[in-house]
Amino acid sequence: MTVPTQPFSSYDIDSLMFITRRPDIVFVEGQGSWLIDNNGKRYLDFLQGWAVNALGHANPGMLAALEQQARRLINPSPAFYNDQMAKLAGLLTQHSVFDKVFFTNSGAEANEGAIKLARKWGRLKKKGAYQIITMDHSFHGRTIATMSASGKPGWDTIYAPQVPGFPKAKLNDIGSAERLIGEETVAVMLEPIQGEGGVIPVTHEFMRELRELTQKHGLLLIVDEVQTGCGRTGKLFGYEHFGITPDIMTLGKGIGGGVPLAALLCREEFAVFEAGDQGGTYNGNPLMCAVGVSVIEQLTAPGFLESVQARGKQLQTILLKMSAEFGLQGERGDGLLRALLLGRDVGVQIVDEARELSPEGLLLNAAKPDLLRFMPALNISAEEMDKMGAMLHGLLLKLAVNA
Ligand SMILES: *Cc1c(COP(=O)(O)O)cnc(C)c1O
Repeated sequence: MTVPTQPFSSYDIDSLMFITRRPDIVFVEGQGSWLIDNNGKRYLDFLQGWAVNALGHANPGMLAALEQQARRLINPSPAFYNDQMAKLAGLLTQHSVFDKVFFTNSGAEANEGAIKLARKWGRLKKKGAYQIITMDHSFHGRTIATMSASGKPGWDTIYAPQVPGFPKAKLNDIGSAERLIGEETVAVMLEPIQGEGGVIPVTHEFMRELRELTQKHGLLLIVDEVQTGCGRTGKLFGYEHFGITPDIMTLGKGIGGGVPLAALLCREEFAVFEAGDQGGTYNGNPLMCAVGVSVIEQLTAPGFLESVQARGKQLQTILLKMSAEFGLQGERGDGLLRALLLGRDVGVQIVDEARELSPEGLLLNAAKPDLLRFMPALNISAEEMDKMGAMLHGLLLKLAVNA
């Protein structure tokens, strides 16, 4: 693959609104687990669009779906059914405990939908109860309501005032959730593994106790599976690990394999939207849904999730070995959503140095300053996984020598 190179200074970067610090490179092409920048340099990609590209870059099945559907029909309007929305909804209900699906364009929008659905249900069935208990350090999106639902430090003030109605419990502390339940409570919402919070798993005990508690009080249990869903943890959906049946689930990221697609799912009895309650111009458009069909068909093909589990074990083994060798704090996570605990705040430095490795770079994320998060393509090869291990090992060696 030859990509014409172009200097960074030739791009009109100044016209872009500043939102975050970014390195002086521009990505122009991707293939599987590899990205190529404006200088033609290759990077082994363990970000994958932020755990979005479940099937890596330029997946042939997704490309075929995108091309064919673009020729057939892009958007007949959300006022009509289309074949791809029905097909994808059917696949999702067939492979989950849910009966009804509403498609959205982002994870935040799916969570907004979950919040609306819970509040609507509270109005109809629980005398107007509207509060949704969420968790400290959780992440549910960047709209005003989903920022209010999130437990990210600082987010309560940055665009104050917040949307009211999201009291925060402590993750894995059932007493802290129970104490928040009152007349106004309608639901509890959580991520099966807190992704942005630093890959913090919910314990099996907590999830099961939460299901019992919500059942006892007649509350909805909402799982935000925007990051943990769609094969990321080695099962199709994260809730499957816990042996529980949630009432509402949101999906995003992996479901579109990189295109803007997300979903709100619920069990039959909670599908209480009435005409006009929910909608959106692009929601359920056949172009994105056709890609989603290709993604879900590939994730549910025989052997696929087993291979995710195998790569997850391989990654875990690599991280544990590194942790032992360099005296780090171990690893956590599940499947191909894992973190290496560094024990000191060198995460950002490692991320920068990994990217700057040459001739090939490595793209990693430090979800917190003292850890590295790994979210590779679910179809990454065993060789590519080992290659990442070798690259990171070299960096840690250097760091240990310089310490
Ligand atoms: C990424 C993420 C979101 C937000 O999804 P967007 O598509 O960025 O709006 C919500 N919840 C969780 C758990 C996420 O990881």
